[in-house]
Amino acid sequence: MTEQSTAFQQMGICYRRSRRAKNLRITIAPTQAVTVTVPANTSLERAKDFVQSKQAWIQKHLTKMRQTENIEQPDLSPEELSRIQDNLFTRLERFSDTYNLPYRHAAFRCQKTKWGSCSSKNNISLNINIAFLPIHLQDYILLHELCHIRHMNHSKVFWSQLNEFCDGRAKAYAKELKTHRMKIRGCV
Ligand SMILES: [Zn+2]
Repeated sequence: MTEQSTAFQQMGICYRRSRRAKNLRITIAPTQAVTVTVPANTSLERAKDFVQSKQAWIQKHLTKMRQTENIEQPDLSPEELSRIQDNLFTRLERFSDTYNLPYRHAAFRCQKTKWGSCSSKNNISLNINIAFLPIHLQDYILLHELCHIRHMNHSKVFWSQLNEFCDGRAKAYAKELKTHRMKIRGCV
């Protein structure tokens, strides 16, 4: 027996008899509780076999739910949001000085798809949603945009420069960032 199927068997699954149900049905609640609805004329044994055959499907949904849960950030008050923005500007300035990457102007914007951007005139736009990200990803975005001051593309040279600033984790951070959703979609 594989480790995964043992873990699966130990998982609490609630079997619920229903006189109205016509078919076996598996539901997963937002609390990640798995319930199996068993019609009156179906044996529990048959229901268990059914669950076993749907193991991969259940696992997939539970994993997805856990991932979504992990990236959910607490809501921020307008005061907290503005404090974080101030802090981000300070760090942007500090990185800019440290690595000698001077930008002209930086602003927070309500962008729907991009976390940040850097114009050819070296103006940096930061997405308001950065405030909800963990610190290491916030820094990654700041450094990414600053790197564009020297390289206006995503060339090999750009990535190796950014990688230096990120202690060799630039690509890992870029990948991690993709698992985060933007909380604020409309303009504030
Ligand atoms: Zn870029």
